[in-house]
This record gives sequence, structure tokens and C-alpha cells, in this order.
Amino acid sequence: MRKKIVAGNWKMNKTFDEAQALVSEVVNMVQDEVNNDTEVVICPSFPFLSSVSKAINGNAKIQVGAQNCHQNESGAYTGEVSAGMLKSVGVSYVILGHSERRQYFQEDNQLLEAKVKAVLKQGLKPIFCIGESLEEREQDLTFKVLESQLKEGLFHVSNEEFAQVVIAYEPIWAIGTGKTATSQQAQEVHAFIREQIARNYDAQAAADTTILYGGSANPGNAKELFSQPDIDGGLIGGASLKSRDFVDIIKSF
Ligand code: PEP
Repeated sequence: MRKKIVAGNWKMNKTFDEAQALVSEVVNMVQDEVNNDTEVVICPSFPFLSSVSKAINGNAKIQVGAQNCHQNESGAYTGEVSAGMLKSVGVSYVILGHSERRQYFQEDNQLLEAKVKAVLKQGLKPIFCIGESLEEREQDLTFKVLESQLKEGLFHVSNEEFAQVVIAYEPIWAIGTGKTATSQQAQEVHAFIREQIARNYDAQAAADTTILYGGSANPGNAKELFSQPDIDGGLIGGASLKSRDFVDIIKSF
């Protein structure tokens, strides 16, 4: 059975004190209010991973994720952070291939292939992001783009490794824009992704893979999105910066 996950991507937001305040609010609210079996993943920026991990204090419902990592294990890569370093401070998930990384840091499918390998090698779980631009959607290229992002960046891993992977469908036109994909649009794409998994791995792998939706999800639309048969949760940007909104999204299952 696949897991339900709600992951908060804090991006480059919050100071140390703000991050500490937010994580403790989320931890307390999850403890007091969340009765469902959703796994919560909090993805702060690198400097706060260790303290956020400590604040979670082994709460089984909440995990820590990083927003990126380098593809090499160690060495002269000034300013970079390896998967092994992330693991050593309590991280269990790593977001890879976010559209902002693809767009502003020229991360392509080939580089992402190497990052996926590096993350899996450390026993961490990639949250592999894919998504089309508005232009690509309008030109009817959505499925083609997603297929090549999956094939080139992700589908090289073994069946066993693939069992550790979470996929996030994030239409670029919906990220941070307030424009959410309709639940039908998202469901259609999630079903397509599951079909691709079945084709490249097998039906069991397709049924077991958690596929998240991301793009302006909020407490007002999460219930409808999460009620779709192939949507297993969300990757939440803006709304994860407010504890009340984030926890209300977690409670939307
Ligand atoms: C994201 O960046 O992963 C995201 C989904 O952002 P937002 O929720 O703000 O659209």
C-alpha cells in the first residue's frame, strides 16, 4: 500500500528563529490534531536541517527533507552539500528536480539522474519533481515532457531502488501563481504517471508509488485534490510557511 505524504517546501525562506518557531508550531499541531496516517515531511533550507530535525525529536509522523543535494559524495565542490551530509543530520527525503532548480540552476535530466543515484546510495528517498510549462501544456506537449523527465531522470533505477522514490507532479504554471490545476487535470496526469511506472517497472510498483501534487495547493483546495484516486498527497510551497494552513492541508485527507 502506498503512503500518503504532505511535504512542505520552505524554499529560501525563514531565519533561524522563524524556522524554529514554525517547526515547533507544526509539531505541536500535528500531535494535537492529526489523526490520519499521513506522513509529514518538512523541507527547510540547509542551515536549519539539523535544528528542525532536533525539534521533531523522533516524532514518527514527521520527517525532514532537504531541497537539493550535490551528486558527488565529497570533494572540492565549494558551497555544495552531499547526500551523506544530509543523512548525518537526520534527513530522510531529498527534493530533486524542482522546477526552480531546473530553471534557475540549469539542472537537466542527466544531472538529475546522477543526483537520484547519489540520494538512493545513502538510503535517502528522492521526491522527484516533474512538470510542464504553460507553453508546453498549450502545445499539447504535457505527456511528452513528463515522459522524458521520467525516462531520462528517474527510470534508470532498479525496481528495488524505485520502491524508495516519491514523485511530485508540479505543473510549472501552478507553482506560486495561485493558479491550481483542477482536480481533473491533476488526476489525468497522475494516472498517466502511474501508467508510465507500470510500463517501465510493473503494475505493483505503479500501485505502490506515492505521487504528490504541487502547485498552489492550500486548505481550500486540498480536500478536492486529495480525493482523486491517483493523488497521494501534496508538495506544498507557500502554504507550508504558515503552520495553520499547512496542518489544515495535512488534515484534508
Ligand atoms: C513548490 O514550490 O513546490 C510549490 C508547490 O509551491 P506553491 O505551493 O507555493 O505553489
